[in-house]
Amino acid sequence: MKKTTRTLSAHKHVALVAHDNCKSELLRWVKENKEILQQHFLYATGTTGSMLSKETGLAIKSKISGPMGGDQQIGAMIAECKIDVLIFFWDPLNSVPHDPDVKALLRIASVWNIPVATNRASAKFIFHSPLINEEVDIEIPDYQDYLADRT
Ligand code: PGA
Repeated sequence: MKKTTRTLSAHKHVALVAHDNCKSELLRWVKENKEILQQHFLYATGTTGSMLSKETGLAIKSKISGPMGGDQQIGAMIAECKIDVLIFFWDPLNSVPHDPDVKALLRIASVWNIPVATNRASAKFIFHSPLINEEVDIEIPDYQDYLADRT
């Protein structure tokens, strides 16, 4: 597929999502990285967002709860190029009622080529990269070309 360039600003739009068994891990990571996180725009699914803002005082725009459609709301924002980085601590040891939404969220993040962290180590690599505080060009599908091809 033909590609085009999308420029991520130095202040990233970061989505934070954690399944119930992973929320304490995400909270620990957010507390450790609070200083850097507060330089960016933060979004989250409902329960994750209210837990994180209550525990850390960070300003976070919460969508509705994941199983109620929040994963899909974050996915839609990714498709609209409104999210630059996805931190998604999904639970690899238990199934959740919204497993299809989990797969869909990971899939759409791959389609639009945004950086994704699914655990503390990958989150650490992303947030310790100098690129997190710089303007960065990424390649994304050229949607106009895609459409022209199909019509
Ligand atoms: P929650 O959703 O933040 O509302 O718990 C997370 C998820 O399961 O996607």
